[in-house]
Amino acid sequence: MENLIIFGHKNPDTDSISSSIALAYLQTKLGNVAVPYRLGNVNMETQFALDYFKVSAPDMLESLDEGANVMLVDHNEAAQSMEGLDKCHIKMVVDHHPIAFTCSEPLYYYAEPVGCTATVLYKLFNKNNVEIPSYIAGLMASAIISDTLLFKSPTCTKEDKTTCELLAKIANIDVQKYGLDMLKAGTDLSGFTAEQLINLDSKQFNLADKLKSKIAQVNTADIDEVMVRKSEIEAAMEKELKDQGLEFGMLLITDIINSNSQVITLGNDSLVEKSYSVKVENHTAFLPGVVSRKKQVIPILTANVE
Ligand code: MN
Ligand code: MN
Repeated sequence: MENLIIFGHKNPDTDSISSSIALAYLQTKLGNVAVPYRLGNVNMETQFALDYFKVSAPDMLESLDEGANVMLVDHNEAAQSMEGLDKCHIKMVVDHHPIAFTCSEPLYYYAEPVGCTATVLYKLFNKNNVEIPSYIAGLMASAIISDTLLFKSPTCTKEDKTTCELLAKIANIDVQKYGLDMLKAGTDLSGFTAEQLINLDSKQFNLADKLKSKIAQVNTADIDEVMVRKSEIEAAMEKELKDQGLEFGMLLITDIINSNSQVITLGNDSLVEKSYSVKVENHTAFLPGVVSRKKQVIPILTANVE
């Protein structure tokens, strides 16, 4: 029996929250004492899912004790994780991101090039013969819907879709109807200040090991609704880059209905222009068909960093 602390990345999304809860459940069933935590506020999309399945959000992880046993879901990069991770025993990683991870101890590492951590977790439940209860299945389906934008993202694999449909059956939801309701719950950005908006889903990257960058994303059903606040958003981005010593910033405003993104970008127009063969005017450009930071942004920018 082990005491386990389980968490996803900072600025948690539906996958990070749901997969922490699901893996903690699985570990508990396997005889461990496992508690899920979050590394930030729960966003409105995730809150919709938690409310729907009547699950309370994990507690915020305030600090990590030296020598604690931890399991990571939905990330593996230290920059996206909890401070003090290097002093812990990482027992397991369940993830679907490129591996930027080193560890001096042996561990379980489950990673697959699929659209969502929950898809990998589903197999772990099966492997261990643990039945998935309805509310966990609902959260896992929500994670897949979120990460794949209801199967429309290029990160979505056949397996994500099949797994989501199986989970939806257990959770007794109609994937299309529930999925659109959940995604839409995450698109009401009116209550956020510009600073909050650019941090709802933002990740830091050191592109090509030299360009310190922050790439953020918001989902919307109407790009114009966000773009009316462009100057305010730009000012917030500029301040953040300066305060955090970053060189390049990009906010993707992603239209979840039509699967395109408008970007606001600071610090390196030519990188964006070269990467997407577009003209950046007034710090903004339209990127048709771009919805996935992981597949359509990070690798493309990385390849074009001079
Ligand atoms: Mn995530
Ligand atoms: Mn994910």
